[in-house]
Amino acid sequence: MERVWIGIGSNMLDPKKQVDQSIWCLSALPMTKLIAFSSYYRSRPLGKKNQPDFLNAIVILDTDLSPQVLLNYLQYIEKKQGRIRLRDDCVWQSRTLDLDILLFGKHIICIPELIIPHHGIFNREFVIYPLIELNDRLVFPNGKIITDIVRTVPRNGLDLWKS
Ligand code: ADP
Ligand code: MG
Repeated sequence: MERVWIGIGSNMLDPKKQVDQSIWCLSALPMTKLIAFSSYYRSRPLGKKNQPDFLNAIVILDTDLSPQVLLNYLQYIEKKQGRIRLRDDCVWQSRTLDLDILLFGKHIICIPELIIPHHGIFNREFVIYPLIELNDRLVFPNGKIITDIVRTVPRNGLDLWKS
């Protein structure tokens, strides 16, 4: 069993419903147990500014799935919930659902389709603040501790998702 941290984001088609549904789907994955999930946060969009705010949250799972198989399941859930990828070079666009593997135990993985820890951990407010809510003693595979990282990441208007 490995402890896995999944980042969730949505800014289209009723984000709260999308995130609720994705957490339910994650909890139903084979050989996997839902351990906890963070509060829901509202973040300002990166990149193109003329798009709705994002709802972000983080889920902790214990799983016997391999990282690649888990990624396949995440992409299946994204697809099922109607994520539309307009163009591959068009990053940071609106999306119904984005599921990222943030951490997979203490593993460091660097293959073209999977980079773990996810790069967002060290610079994105909507990753680091939900993470510290869930575990303020988290130590990353590179030995860095979350309380040191969080000091370098401004909140950029990150707030709790109300309504
Ligand atoms: P981002 O999540 O950075 O905004 P995308 O979700 O559009 O960008 O990126 C999807 C691609 O990222 C997928 O093709 C997937 O193979 C790759 N990827 C690399 N590392 C990870 C990871 N840790 N979790 C999820 N997808 C990842
Ligand atoms: Mg992603």
